[in-house]
Amino acid sequence: MDTADLKPGRLAADDYASRFGDAHAPLTRTQALIEAERCYYCFDAPCQTACPTGIDVPTFIQRIAQDNVRGAAETILTANPLGGLCARVCPTEVLCEQACVRNTNESKPVEIGLLQRFAVEAHFATPGARPLFERGQPTGKRVAVVGAGPSGLAAAHGLAWRGHDVVLFDAAPKLGGLNEYGLATYKVAGGFAQREIDWLLSIGGITPRLNCRLGRDITLDGLLAEYDAVFVGLGLQGVNALGIAEPELPGLRDAVDFIAELRQSDPAQVPVGRKVVVIGGGMTAVDAAVQSKLLGAETVTMVYRRGQEGLSASTHEQHWAQTHGVTIRCWARPLAVEAESGVLRGLRFAATRLEGGKLVDTGEQFVIEADLVLRAIGQTFDDHPVGAALDLQGGRLKTDADGRTSLARVWAGGDCRAGGRDLTVEAVEHGKRAAASIDHALQHASARHLDKEAAHG
Ligand SMILES: Cc1cc2nc3c(=O)[nH]c(=O)nc-3n(C[C@H](O)[C@H](O)[C@H](O)COP(=O)(O)OP(=O)(O)OC[C@H]3O[C@@H](n4cnc5c(N)ncnc54)[C@H](O)[C@@H]3O)c2cc1C
Ligand code: SF4
Repeated sequence: MDTADLKPGRLAADDYASRFGDAHAPLTRTQALIEAERCYYCFDAPCQTACPTGIDVPTFIQRIAQDNVRGAAETILTANPLGGLCARVCPTEVLCEQACVRNTNESKPVEIGLLQRFAVEAHFATPGARPLFERGQPTGKRVAVVGAGPSGLAAAHGLAWRGHDVVLFDAAPKLGGLNEYGLATYKVAGGFAQREIDWLLSIGGITPRLNCRLGRDITLDGLLAEYDAVFVGLGLQGVNALGIAEPELPGLRDAVDFIAELRQSDPAQVPVGRKVVVIGGGMTAVDAAVQSKLLGAETVTMVYRRGQEGLSASTHEQHWAQTHGVTIRCWARPLAVEAESGVLRGLRFAATRLEGGKLVDTGEQFVIEADLVLRAIGQTFDDHPVGAALDLQGGRLKTDADGRTSLARVWAGGDCRAGGRDLTVEAVEHGKRAAASIDHALQHASARHLDKEAAHG
């Protein structure tokens, strides 16, 4: 039978480790000390304002310069309990490093991301290091956190730190959400995501309950009956379709599933085409495209329906893709899957342009041959697990700035919450703020309860 050229093991065995290893070499101690000296320790530091978790950047850098790694890690992890992972995956070029004043007089920011990574990892690697945080006195309050991605982990940590008992539910067999199943292998090499989770759980008071799905094994009503408060951090579980007929074909699949398979198995076992097409213009599309190339695909083309300025992948990510041999083709939208006898052959595209602000076809069509087509045109919030209980806004959960949903005693954060930028660091901030808000509400609820008891003698 004729089959698409889709197979695992395109590389020599040794090549996988080098290709899927760390994307950026970490700083050595000497390099970190030298880089830290470049910081001006600005008052009202713009880098701190640009950080969604508000890390006190000048202070942690100063501590590195003083060779005080523990102090630097404490500053970082107090503001961001996933500060090690964020140091690796944050688009610093559009956050803290873009804001750094060193850009103005040296055209080169302080390497904040690499310094942050250095501090956290050096602290984790210190044998017998004392814990950075101690759990508060037990409050007797119980909080259910549903979803163990960055938002749920940050919420769980903030609540446990304040003395509440947390049960952390997740539908998946491992904690971490997209930290474990989504981020590109080369961004989180060396099992760092789980190492940081182990550190985070070491605070105590957090009981993970895995393979437990809201909407199937547990319900929101049930959780509200059993717990004092609930935090929902479900992320985005739906994937947008291409909007064309999509036959069931080997080789036509979602980029997020392809990336998750790469994270959860030996890359040598993951099938890849000789010719790959990725549809989309964001971070997911870049990660899928680059990893296809690293797996040994000969041609990889990322196709985006609008112009380059509309790509949601940052300039840095576009450069990363292009320097890994990915071709980015703009102004084209998929029209039809090309297949013969159940074998994927490629995709037919319509060329597009803007007309009066609207995207229209130019009338030109072309085919790009492919054995593997990866869909990466965005994810959606699946509201099925929460039913009609919570109000939505633009298809995601409506909350206030602290993450309170429309239902009393329920908070939400991360990608499932309306109005965010879908970044790991922002999900962490949502979880952190929600933990503070839940704590405040629980304390006031207790105070009201005591007042009532006192009033009734
Ligand atoms: C491929 C890819 C690459 C990315 N790369 C980057 C990057 O380099 N840098 C960056 O800053 N951001 C990146 N992002 C975005 C970032 O990963 C997300 O913004 C972040 O993970 C959101 O965190 P979260 O906690 O909201 O959700 P998630 O990380 O999605 O976690 C949600 C958790 O909820 C669980 N869950 C879902 N439904 C249920 C249910 N019904 N019951 C119980 N549990 C449930 C899931 O199993 C999961 O563990 C990337 C995203 C993708 C898809
Ligand atoms: S803006 Fe740059 S120089 Fe100023 S404190 Fe931040 S990292 Fe240091």
